[in-house]
Amino acid sequence: MRTEMTSATFILAINLFAAALLAASFLTLAALGARRSAAHWLAFSYVIGVGYLLIEASIPAFTEPRLPVTAAFAVFLAATIALNIGLAHNYDVAAPRLAMLLFLIVASLVVYLVQDMPRQALGRMMAYQLPYAAMQLVALGIVWSSKRRQSVLDRLLLIVLGLSALQFASKPFLAHALGGWGANPQSYLQSNYAMVSQTMGTIFALAVALLLLGILMRDTLAEAALKSEVDALSRLLNRGGFQARAGIALRSARKQGVPVSLVLADLDHFKAINDNFGHASGDRVIEVFAGFLRDTVARNHVVGRIGGEEFAILLPGTNLTSARLFAEGIRSAFSALPIDGLPKDHRCTASFGVSEFQPEEGLADLMRRADDALYGAKKAGRDQVKVSGSPLGLVKSSTSPSNGPSGLNFNGKG
Ligand code: GH3
Ligand code: MG
Ligand code: MG
Repeated sequence: MRTEMTSATFILAINLFAAALLAASFLTLAALGARRSAAHWLAFSYVIGVGYLLIEASIPAFTEPRLPVTAAFAVFLAATIALNIGLAHNYDVAAPRLAMLLFLIVASLVVYLVQDMPRQALGRMMAYQLPYAAMQLVALGIVWSSKRRQSVLDRLLLIVLGLSALQFASKPFLAHALGGWGANPQSYLQSNYAMVSQTMGTIFALAVALLLLGILMRDTLAEAALKSEVDALSRLLNRGGFQARAGIALRSARKQGVPVSLVLADLDHFKAINDNFGHASGDRVIEVFAGFLRDTVARNHVVGRIGGEEFAILLPGTNLTSARLFAEGIRSAFSALPIDGLPKDHRCTASFGVSEFQPEEGLADLMRRADDALYGAKKAGRDQVKVSGSPLGLVKSSTSPSNGPSGLNFNGKG
């Protein structure tokens, strides 16, 4: 039996190092900041895991193992609960914390009491293993109920958690099939069952841990990428972010053969707002205009702050006429909007340039033509919408209160 004892102890030692390394990895991820609370809880879970393994390794040294056995059970269950809380943080789901805590107390009490039962009784083994299966099912429920479970890693995690729950639930029967789990807790580590059980446990624990590490890393990177594409003041995409997203939307619309239009907007006399009311008020106007755009655009629209007080909206599935109406709607509504911090009767306005995607064009061409149209709107007196009629540089003016009837204007820049 000496080799078997070595195997189970050896696996325990591997688990110990793995858990310590995983705790360090999650702490490192937490230091990166993006998914901090999730990473902290997961690190905490593996620290508790180290504690469990130390207790487990020391059980043979106790003559009266009832308490250390209960402690090992409770500490490992606590590790799975901490893992579930971390998982819930990462998947933006509320974890049933109180229920899990009560479950921990009740399950630990049951494990303490069942030690009066014959050691090989199925009920006694179930009292040990079913709570772990239950916590894996809670983890599965957390990932399942999240909206963010679309990618391969999330699906793999669901599968591994399901299998892991099955593994825990099947352990009492496995122990029976393998001839019991040792005559007493001290000899547990020498049983065949201990080796098989620890190997299975290690495989599933490592699979879950590596998937979690991958998922957390993926989400941390995605959050960092998103942050680099978003402007802090307006909370819209910045110029780089807009170009990246608009490029993707443009290519996809081109593939589907649907029209695409672009609206550029530039706030009017913005320098004067800064000069008269202060830079903070200027910032406030930018925030209000950005918020207004955010509330107005549809899900498939791409909207960004591409300059100081310049904004861009890409409208997939929208032709020039509809895009002009869209811009006109924003123009008239914004020009009627009172703005906090500015005098009650003061109104801010913006000028708009609109272009529709033409075959052979790229995003840069589309933006250049919209910019030319915008320049035309500024030249024509501001607070109006101009459209780029054709790639030749003709600008059509829209009906707006200050603009009179529509007609063809020459774009001063083209
Ligand atoms: P126009 O009607 O021709 O657009 O006139 P304008 O005064 O808006 O002219 P322009 O577009 O050249 O001026 C932009 C000004 O916006 C210059 C700059 O001081 C100001 N600005 C740029 N970014 C910010 C910002 O983040 N906050 C504030 N408060 N002002 C900004
Ligand atoms: Mg301006
Ligand atoms: Mg400007």
